[in-house]
Amino acid sequence: MIYDQVVIGSGISGLVAATILAQYGHRVALVEQAPVLAPVLRGFSRQGIYYDTGFHYSGGLGDGEVLDVLFRYLGIAEKLEKYSFAADRFDTFRDVETQEEFHFPIGREALRDRLCTAFPQEREGIDKYLAMVQQACQAIPYLNLDLEFGQVKPMLGVHGPSLGEVLDQLIGNTALKGLLSMHSLLYGVPPDQVPFFLHASVAGLYYESVHGLKGGGLSLVQAFEQRLDELGVDVFLGQAAQKFSFAANGTLAGVTMADGEVVACRNCVATVHPQVVLDLVPSELLRPVYRRRLENLEETVSALMLYAACETPSQLLQGSNLFLGRLGRPLEGLGGGPLEERPINMAGTAPDDKGPGARGFVAICPAEQDCTARWSGSSLGKRPVEYLRFKEETMERMQCHIERSCPELRGTFKVSAGATPLTIRDFAANPAGGLYGVKHRVGQYNPMARTRVPGLFLAGQAVVAPGVLGGALSGFLTCGQMLGQDQLLERVKACS
Ligand SMILES: Cc1cc2nc3c(=O)[nH]c(=O)nc-3n(C[C@H](O)[C@H](O)[C@H](O)COP(=O)(O)OP(=O)(O)OC[C@H]3O[C@@H](n4cnc5c(N)ncnc54)[C@H](O)[C@@H]3O)c2cc1C
Repeated sequence: MIYDQVVIGSGISGLVAATILAQYGHRVALVEQAPVLAPVLRGFSRQGIYYDTGFHYSGGLGDGEVLDVLFRYLGIAEKLEKYSFAADRFDTFRDVETQEEFHFPIGREALRDRLCTAFPQEREGIDKYLAMVQQACQAIPYLNLDLEFGQVKPMLGVHGPSLGEVLDQLIGNTALKGLLSMHSLLYGVPPDQVPFFLHASVAGLYYESVHGLKGGGLSLVQAFEQRLDELGVDVFLGQAAQKFSFAANGTLAGVTMADGEVVACRNCVATVHPQVVLDLVPSELLRPVYRRRLENLEETVSALMLYAACETPSQLLQGSNLFLGRLGRPLEGLGGGPLEERPINMAGTAPDDKGPGARGFVAICPAEQDCTARWSGSSLGKRPVEYLRFKEETMERMQCHIERSCPELRGTFKVSAGATPLTIRDFAANPAGGLYGVKHRVGQYNPMARTRVPGLFLAGQAVVAPGVLGGALSGFLTCGQMLGQDQLLERVKACS
């Protein structure tokens, strides 16, 4: 059998691309190296508690909003049950020293009012900042379904300004700048590096609406599993793509997998980390300058993560995240310095039918990749004793820090699992363990969907933006390049 399309990688971008191509009537194979579909999104269970890994909440999921419309087009919206985060505090920032808090409410007007009440002297800057965020969102295809593709400039944001530059121009108060930069943790790039444009496309949607999914990321994976089955997509699990093969006339002929099996195809969408793509393509097919560009792409910050089970379900973390940090201290570098000095983002587990309150939570603390570099030669399940000791000590330090900063949680939770940059590297197949793969930063040219290799297209968080929405959009934009952007957009609009 010769497939019209092989999609490599079953994260959100691969799931979206495979679904769109199959909906267009193409014969599609989806190849995933992990033994399960979407390892980053599907989460895991310990002692009866389900923990999300790559999905806790998202903007754009409200009825008629972008992700909701895209999910309707993909035929999965009715398979999902979404719930709104707390309207008056979807995210809370807490100062770890003073315990002072700022609650981010849902809705741009509500946010404006709360920011202006807390920082009345910054009213003008707040209005300008929120207007710029809204303008940026309206300039992005699919976020604004009325936009024509001809109006879209590629590489928006790569020339800046950065979020830090915009905040320095508009806002004088350091505490306010820190609060408005807090969402840097959602894309893993510090404010002085991240294009304002990217920040706006992530944070701006959270300002409008914030939803989670009942059953968490796993429910999203299961909805896609059903849909791929309905559409007749062949799924190859536990099969790492290793090489592309080409016909004598230079066109793509197939993908060779780790066990030597060749999946014959005409086109391929690779949604893996761009450096993995370099291993797949014979070197003579890529210009040295392009190869070097991909080799040198910087990764986002990595993280240390603590997963905990609550003895009494937590009200604090139900439908609301808690960001721990220091008001007034600018967020720089994200992953450096002692753990206790870094910000931490805590998210409760998704609601289930066992009653109110989060039954567990994850705490994510940014960390440099090199904190586990000593053990980089080891793999999942085969780590040396020194690494296990480092991980245990790190989890203890995180636990103490959380208990000091959140007295209401003291003595109410037990650590169930932990993760380090090495876990992320091996679990998500990100060569350097970046939390969100390749960085989007001012001055860095990330790869585009189209490549010089005939029949090979790229998608994924490195191409458009991180997050479930960023990955989904990259699937749409890449398929649009293959199938006709305007026609695909029309079909999407018909679902709005
Ligand atoms: C801790 C954490 C929390 C997050 N929380 C949120 C959140 O609350 N909301 C949100 O919107 N986003 C969140 N994200 C971000 C979001 O999960 C990611 O941006 C998104 O899942 C990336 O999707 P992707 O398809 O681009 O990449 P991936 O999901 O990484 O998919 C790539 C796939 O390719 C596979 N692969 C690699 N090499 C090969 C090969 N050679 N052959 C075959 N397959 C291969 C990998 O196994 C992987 O499954 C979070 C991420 C993390 C790590």
